[in-house]
Amino acid sequence: MKDMNGHQMEQPMAAPTPTSNGSSNGVAMGQALTLDQARRYARHIILPEVGPVGQRQLLAARVLLIGAGGLGSPASMYLAAAGVGTLGIVDYDVVDLSNLHRQIIHGHKNLGRPKVDSAAEALRDINPDVAVRTYNEPISSANAMDIVSQYDIVVNGSDNFPTRYLVNDACYLLGKPLVDGSLFRFEGRANVYLPGKGCYRCLFPAPPPPGAVPSCAEAGVLGAMCGVIGAIQAVETIKLILNIGESLVNRLLLFDSLTMEFREVRIPRDPACPLCGDNPTIHELIDYEAFCGAPVTTLG
Ligand SMILES: [Zn+2]
Repeated sequence: MKDMNGHQMEQPMAAPTPTSNGSSNGVAMGQALTLDQARRYARHIILPEVGPVGQRQLLAARVLLIGAGGLGSPASMYLAAAGVGTLGIVDYDVVDLSNLHRQIIHGHKNLGRPKVDSAAEALRDINPDVAVRTYNEPISSANAMDIVSQYDIVVNGSDNFPTRYLVNDACYLLGKPLVDGSLFRFEGRANVYLPGKGCYRCLFPAPPPPGAVPSCAEAGVLGAMCGVIGAIQAVETIKLILNIGESLVNRLLLFDSLTMEFREVRIPRDPACPLCGDNPTIHELIDYEAFCGAPVTTLG
């Protein structure tokens, strides 16, 4: 597989080695670490749950970020710093002054630039080990399956319902884990969907009617909340790659920054879910753009 510039993207495969916790999650093993990599990731490698083998798994992993906005900024920066070897970013917006109070991957000098270009430059500066692939286009039913199929895990940082449903459906249909996050004023949510263990439609089978739920732009959001939830998404993604700990699968984590309280709601798979239920009615992607009456953007 090659990137947009025709460069070879895949890490050479090494002999299969069990992960540090003795199990495998199907993420390919990367090549042996260089001396520079051993230094860069020393604080990871010293963790028994990561070790050199886990670090090689991180370097071999491919993660797609939907949106280079409020959630995508911290999530992608921590994933790049962690040495996740291939990061894809989908966003067709340009950096606007109103983004900068929360979208910390973008600086003032990048106002007016495409967000994917601004983000890619920042990520390459954080860690030149990381191959960044950019998609400066809206994600839709026309391209979602092709893009998502090239990655191991998807991190959702979109703040609109058409994209949220599209990404949820594409991940389920392709069997990809989805690390979800959302923000509303002073509150944030995070959880993980694994194919066969529930999806966003188990909670909300269909999008709300147009105008029923305010967007981030309409409701406002405390900028630093993006850091809390985006970092949780990065942590959950790294745990999935390493196959360690307990994932936020079937657990919706709710964070209220005003009371500084975390709560958790169990969300089992719904057998009546129209997508992942026992008798599904959705078998292909649906563009909800017109239905929701909102443009497909990824403000985060
Ligand atoms: Zn479902």
